[in-house]
Amino acid sequence: MSYFRPDIEAMEGYVPGEQPKGRVLTKLNTNENPFPPSPKVVEAIRNFPFEELRKYPAPYSDPVREAASKVYDIPADQIIAGNGSDDILTILFRSFVGEGHTVGWLNPSYSLYPVLANIQGGEHLTVDLKDNFGLPDNLAEKAKSSKLFFITRPNAPTGNAFEKDRLREFIANYHGIVVIDEAYADFCEDNCFDMIDEFPNVIITRTLSKSYSLAGIRAGLAFSNKNIIMGMHKVRDSYNVNGLTQAAAAAALLDQDYFLKNTQIVIDTRKKTAKRLQELGFDVKPSEANFLFCIPPINAEEFTHKVKEGGFLIRYFNTKGIDNYVRISIGSQQEMNEFLALTESILQDNK
Ligand code: PMP
Repeated sequence: MSYFRPDIEAMEGYVPGEQPKGRVLTKLNTNENPFPPSPKVVEAIRNFPFEELRKYPAPYSDPVREAASKVYDIPADQIIAGNGSDDILTILFRSFVGEGHTVGWLNPSYSLYPVLANIQGGEHLTVDLKDNFGLPDNLAEKAKSSKLFFITRPNAPTGNAFEKDRLREFIANYHGIVVIDEAYADFCEDNCFDMIDEFPNVIITRTLSKSYSLAGIRAGLAFSNKNIIMGMHKVRDSYNVNGLTQAAAAAALLDQDYFLKNTQIVIDTRKKTAKRLQELGFDVKPSEANFLFCIPPINAEEFTHKVKEGGFLIRYFNTKGIDNYVRISIGSQQEMNEFLALTESILQDNK
């Protein structure tokens, strides 16, 4: 007999990417940043007044919201911070989804959405992307039974950024809340911040895990109109972002020079890696994120195993409709050179 709710007992939890233990493997499997966090982050943590840890942190995460407000030029009352953007997503599900409510997302996209929907007792509505991973036609019509819909832009794991005009058309014709998950938007040429003022039903989520090299500190953000943000504050844990994270996240946001320099290097490395993989016979899908989604010239699962034997972790995908793909996170230029050399030798051996 179980003390858990039957639906929780039966459900599968979120499966995080492999975190290697023991043998040193280069992690190109969970889209982390190859660069260390900004020196300003280290300084903020070193200078953190430790006696303050006795007290609760700022409940509204004001240091983070004020820093984000400065950087994005959006008022602080239109911003909420979270313990990673996964926390923000949890707040969204808790805010908008009750027992039996329908929540939608695209397939494929981020595998946490169904887990959070299940926890709320929500129903799933998944809409398949087009064959080229583009936004489906008539999405508003297809999504109309849902009250909350997630658009990941750039999408994960496919890497492409949906056309903004088509996204606008969807939002204008959809009656529920649209969450644009911009976890990877800093690696993309544009973003959807302009849609917050344009539409009353848009929420944008961001993370500091990828572009700010802070996956370990857990910091995320959401942006929307004042009313929606106020509602979300009612739902978050009372002190959902710890004091050290608040200091570190604010310092990272305010060091834009460091952020912009590293982000540009990751983008350049992505372009070079994509080109070389294409030369090696990979079908590389267009990416505006810090990873590449591709079909290797040999079996994807076998390739993933061989790459691991050679010291690299990548992610193999074999889910509904996406078979034989791998997702490769962009590491440092040196890591990618080593990865490409290994790939070349694997393909040679396979001839
Ligand atoms: N959204 C997407 C699309 C992601 O890929 C991730 C990272 N797994 C997240 C949100 C969550 O990021 P974090 O909780 O580290 O901020």
